[in-house]
Amino acid sequence: MKSITIFVMLDACRHDYISRRHTPFLHSLQSSSLSCPVKPTFGFEPDAAYLAGLYPDQADGGAQFWYNPKDSPFKLARFLPKWTNKLPKIPQKIIRKLLLKAVRLSNSAPNLSTAWLPFHLLNQFALPMMNGLDQPGFCPGHKSIFDLLREQNLPWLFHAGPDYRVTINAACKRAKVKLHPPLAFAFFHIGNLDGTGHAFGPHSDEIQTELSHVDHGLSKIYRLANKRFSNVNFVIMGDHGMIEVDHLLNVKEILSALPLSLEKDYMYILDSTMARFWFFSKQAKQLIGHAMKNLQGGHIITKDEKDTFHLNYPHNRFGDMIYLANPGYLIFPNHYQVHRPETGMHGYSSNAYGQQALLLINSERVKHQQLKTPVAMRRVFPSVCDLLDISVPVDCNLPSLLTDLP
Ligand SMILES: [Zn+2]
Repeated sequence: MKSITIFVMLDACRHDYISRRHTPFLHSLQSSSLSCPVKPTFGFEPDAAYLAGLYPDQADGGAQFWYNPKDSPFKLARFLPKWTNKLPKIPQKIIRKLLLKAVRLSNSAPNLSTAWLPFHLLNQFALPMMNGLDQPGFCPGHKSIFDLLREQNLPWLFHAGPDYRVTINAACKRAKVKLHPPLAFAFFHIGNLDGTGHAFGPHSDEIQTELSHVDHGLSKIYRLANKRFSNVNFVIMGDHGMIEVDHLLNVKEILSALPLSLEKDYMYILDSTMARFWFFSKQAKQLIGHAMKNLQGGHIITKDEKDTFHLNYPHNRFGDMIYLANPGYLIFPNHYQVHRPETGMHGYSSNAYGQQALLLINSERVKHQQLKTPVAMRRVFPSVCDLLDISVPVDCNLPSLLTDLP
């Protein structure tokens, strides 16, 4: 018999989702665990925070796309005529699938996506984090939890997309077959709450039903692990929360009213809660800067915020200017939702209550404690290293939550 650390990345699990009624398993587990709200790093891609303890500018991440025509994997897209952008949803989806298939012939990165970027602009953009979370080089120049496991020759089970369906049912099935000694670590990405939260909002009946369903599945994985291993460390973490959308911001309309030409004067990408701009003319910088400054429902990220959120990249690939929507505001249409707006969204300021996620660590090495103060998501990395008895890399000076509570 052996010890295992199970890490469940419960996508979009808000810190206040736990209740006796809808999540009886997690509620009872909480009474013997360390639990607290966790503050994700800024943006949409906080994986490097919990897997390697990194800020966005250390990981060179934070958004799915960046402006990088030289390294764009979508060079093929320039052959698609402009009218393809006007096609209805289904035929466009088919073209996007075919395009991805063609791109994959020369690029095997698992996290490739076109989102809903117009075909003729795709060759201007690349994806900064195309590698799988467990692949070497996920955080170039830094070691992730999987790099450390690799170094120690410790076996792990990895359940995440695109190879595996990120549902609780698929995770349970896989755990039943694969969760056995000598595994030292298991990673499950479970996406049920993200999809339901986007479609119906974080306060809906649908999310309560989904929570009960996920809770039941997690209890099965937990029981199974305790039967097969002598010691189980069980970590549940949401990568962000979910906020009800109650206002829409039409940035596209504002831009099209300006006497500027896209590609010649500027480039932009709308990531639901962020509008990011690259300027190629003084006039574009001035006119767009003025228009966005006057757009109620958000603000342009300041120098102080760049310092606080660690967005001081040595390049401008994430944008010359970033407009961030206030919690509850959704930029629509955007390059992820073009047909209808979502009811719930994340990607707001890390300080927003609903953007914060759940962290629960159950292990005989932690004392029961339910903290109200949020902890930084980067501290999950040294805490998981601690559970695995692996030393953190020398350049990581973050304390583990097992020994040093806030
Ligand atoms: Zn989401």
